[in-house]
Amino acid sequence: MGKNKQETQCVHAGQLPDPLYQGAISPLYLSTAYGYEETDRYPRYFNTPNQVGLAQKIAALEGAEAALIFGSGMAAISTALMAYLHKGDHVVLQNDLYGGTTNLVKEHFEKFGIEYSFTKGLTANDFEAEIKANTKVIYIETPSNPLMKIIDLEAIAALAKRHALVSMIDNTFASPINQNPIAYGIDIVIHSATKYLGGHSDILAGAIACSKAHLEPLFALAKSFGGNLSDLSVWLLERSIKTLAVRVKQQNENAMAIATYLSQHPQVANVYYPGLSSHPDHDLANKQMRGFTGMMSFELAPKVHRKTFEQALQIIQPVVSLAGVESTITIPCITSHKLLSDAARAQQGITDQLVRLSVGVEHVDDLKQDLDQALKKGAHET
Ligand SMILES: *Cc1c(COP(=O)(O)O)cnc(C)c1O
Repeated sequence: MGKNKQETQCVHAGQLPDPLYQGAISPLYLSTAYGYEETDRYPRYFNTPNQVGLAQKIAALEGAEAALIFGSGMAAISTALMAYLHKGDHVVLQNDLYGGTTNLVKEHFEKFGIEYSFTKGLTANDFEAEIKANTKVIYIETPSNPLMKIIDLEAIAALAKRHALVSMIDNTFASPINQNPIAYGIDIVIHSATKYLGGHSDILAGAIACSKAHLEPLFALAKSFGGNLSDLSVWLLERSIKTLAVRVKQQNENAMAIATYLSQHPQVANVYYPGLSSHPDHDLANKQMRGFTGMMSFELAPKVHRKTFEQALQIIQPVVSLAGVESTITIPCITSHKLLSDAARAQQGITDQLVRLSVGVEHVDDLKQDLDQALKKGAHET
């Protein structure tokens, strides 16, 4: 399946045969007990037929040799970091990561004797400045949440190789359709499959894709942590990924049209979308991404009352989480970035008027119309 295009991999890679009935889809194996003569097959060992098939599909989509499927994105992230960091080691992390990752590091690493530094900026030099003699891992996330800043994959991979570090990326926002970090030399790719891979806001899951050699320590720890995904959800996730390419391409297209529309809207002060040539990282995004995702954020003009805008939306739903087929918004200052101090939020450029939009697969005209009427109500213009 490695040679097929991604659209074909989405549908067919890792599909299980149905020798009994020749069914067109993977049979579901829910057994937690398998014969011990030939294998030590067990769900927590990540080796049931459905887990193995789905791992092959995700590995194919990321251009990786292997993958593991987890019960959540955080199970994947914590397993990856803990597998490669030992007592006395140090990790360099990007300064604006997913909140759950930041909490894992800040609240728990000290008790394991693991040291860490968050970068001051997002260039390779900013990462290099934090490297110490005991640094073992570099951890990035691009595009970043919520301002869609782009980190240079090639530069980070080269930096990691120069210092013999393991490089890890949270590739959730891009999805494998828009970005394959392994092609740029990144070692370990992590997904919250709750987002684009699942795509329907109904599965909590995670995944790691990497080389077979990099998988070994991960697998050894993962079996002990016990964070595998149940096979019923594995089967549902496999079905969801069959439409990943179609969904994401439509989301890319809708988002580009909406970002362009909002950037010309009088009630919008700023739009952060890497597909716009006005985005500071547009050239870099163009170099390393095939599409610019369905994610963006924008700042309401000062005269727009944010709460009125939120409540006026009729199609776009105000919910936490992202990347579903339905369009959703969140307000970073009261959700994902609530725990930061006012000063830290301001320093990251996250204002009280900032709205994060996850664009779905509805018709783009309906989405524009919904945003327009809510922006006008927010500005008391209707
Ligand atoms: C949601 C998310 C996570 C965490 O994933 P869960 O499936 O909720 O555990 C990690 N990284 C990013 C970028 C996310 O959006």
